[in-house]
Amino acid sequence: MVVIMLGAPGTGKGTVSAILKEKLGIAHVSSGDIFRKYSSEDSDLGREINSYLQKGKLVPDELTIKMIKERLNEKDVQKGVILDGFPRTEAQAQALDNMLSETGKKVDLVVDLDSPKQEILDRIVTRRICPDCKAVFNTKLNKPKVEGICDNCGAKLYQREDDTAEKVETRIEVYKKETAPLEKYYENTGKLFQIEVTEKTGTMAKEAAEKVMTKINA
Ligand code: AMP
Repeated sequence: MVVIMLGAPGTGKGTVSAILKEKLGIAHVSSGDIFRKYSSEDSDLGREINSYLQKGKLVPDELTIKMIKERLNEKDVQKGVILDGFPRTEAQAQALDNMLSETGKKVDLVVDLDSPKQEILDRIVTRRICPDCKAVFNTKLNKPKVEGICDNCGAKLYQREDDTAEKVETRIEVYKKETAPLEKYYENTGKLFQIEVTEKTGTMAKEAAEKVMTKINA
């Protein structure tokens, strides 16, 4: 099974993916996590990737597609995968279709999360991440039991360098321009499943994941 998570930054893709990973027993591949790992390395490639992340811009398609292709060839994703943050452009979506068809696979479901902009901004600047198990917390809505410490593995939480009010504006603009057109791309295949994640209706990541499970089991 191949599930794609679409949605602007801060809509809950990572949190919903983590819940689905447990429920479906398949791998969770976050392109952002892959790039953050590279960008912390002292190498030309690490520095190149870091320059895009720092600006809130997309890493070029060619490099992104190459890295995801390598990851999708690994053993743990053969049973199924939740793709969190990939594809983000039409060229990436087409490359993914080609990669999957080479092994007789296809995209099964595209979950498209949306949230009001003010909620996105509030969530992003209060977001805290575990560097080890990648769990996502929030200093307001989803506090860890002990301040600054991951509930799951005890590591010290950190704030992403691109989780600032200024950078998130750029990331939202990039999303609208480069990634939002993918809604049409997947709508045409009948795979698109849109969910509004908002405090207004009490539909947060947990409820969104439940909706996805209901859809998959229908
Ligand atoms: P994320 O953790 O998904 O918010 O991604 C963090 C950053 O990694 C983005 O702002 C981009 O710079 C880069 N990135 C992640 N996924 C992609 C992708 N599919 N294509 C290009 N750049 C990406």
